[in-house]
Amino acid sequence: MYPLLEVHLDRIRENAEKLVDLCGRRNIDIVGVVKGCTAFPEVAKAMLDGGIRILADARIDNVKKLRKAGIRSHIMLIRIPMLSEIKELVELTDICLVSEAVTIKAINDEAGKAGKRYRIILMIDMGDLREGIWPSNLVSYLDTIRDLKHVELWGLGTNLGCFGGVIPTPEVATALLDYARFAREYTGFDIPVVSMGGTVALFLVENGEMPEGINQLRIGEAILLGKDTSRGRVIPYLRQDTFILKAEIIELKVKPSVPIGEVGVDGFGKKPEFVDKGLRKRAIVALGKHDVMIDMLSPLIEGVEVLGGSSDHTILDITDSVSDLRVGDIIPFEIGYGAMMLASSSPYVRKAFIGP
Ligand SMILES: *Cc1c(COP(=O)(O)O)cnc(C)c1O
Repeated sequence: MYPLLEVHLDRIRENAEKLVDLCGRRNIDIVGVVKGCTAFPEVAKAMLDGGIRILADARIDNVKKLRKAGIRSHIMLIRIPMLSEIKELVELTDICLVSEAVTIKAINDEAGKAGKRYRIILMIDMGDLREGIWPSNLVSYLDTIRDLKHVELWGLGTNLGCFGGVIPTPEVATALLDYARFAREYTGFDIPVVSMGGTVALFLVENGEMPEGINQLRIGEAILLGKDTSRGRVIPYLRQDTFILKAEIIELKVKPSVPIGEVGVDGFGKKPEFVDKGLRKRAIVALGKHDVMIDMLSPLIEGVEVLGGSSDHTILDITDSVSDLRVGDIIPFEIGYGAMMLASSSPYVRKAFIGP
């Protein structure tokens, strides 16, 4: 049955192994982020088999799924928790990222009730303008945390390359280390972890530019897809053939390359543009915006080009295809991060896990 998402677990494990080895040589622990594929437990296990010891996800629902599947490793919640989910947070995870005093206090209360000591990583906004406290407020947060008995300030952290697209530099990493040193001196706590993410920060490790003391990287995309989208690069020593989406051809005809008649907007409010290439051989596959982000599909048959699509159809130009295609044939695609997210969560896409 199609569309089918093939998840190659052996290749994901291989990516995890390579990154654990690369970062391990510089005393950096990798946190394996599974949110990009809705935390398939099979994928989480492949990461653990690859040597990763801490898993992470943004959503408690996904954490629940992992626990239900019998995964007992450390799990970190990497979206700042909602006040309404603190009870489950403390029950199901042992580490989370924080940036609000009220939330930290709520975690402390809940951990107290549960008889636990819960680890928090205080996030500092180093310019990407997503989550994190402003550095000038660090002292006030340290004062708050110092008085709490049931949370351990396990680390300081930052996130880059997500909202503002800010690229990590050695200077940003060094500034974060300075804040961590200050926090240790000010509180007298160990604060053993200095955490950066995501995949965009890997580049510094590869180039030997990551300053000593950054000892945790939260990595998703590199393990899952072998790519670093923020830098627009394929990571050459990792595998990209990890998630393959397969769709079936339902129509195959020669048609003009420009629509005939008056052109309005498409089903999504956009005005489509067309280049006149004359008559072209086109295929429609049974796959659409319910299943995937169409512009993040790369056909694995040479000469096949994605023209666009709508909620349930994707149109391909197959005029230059190296293989002779017919109705009923299956087209495999490599997919980008956004396409992986949608294909993983779409109820219409069947999933097949391949490899141990
Ligand atoms: C998603 C996320 C990551 C992982 O990012 P990738 O680019 O997939 O490696 C790391 N940290 C935080 C806080 C995140 O939300």
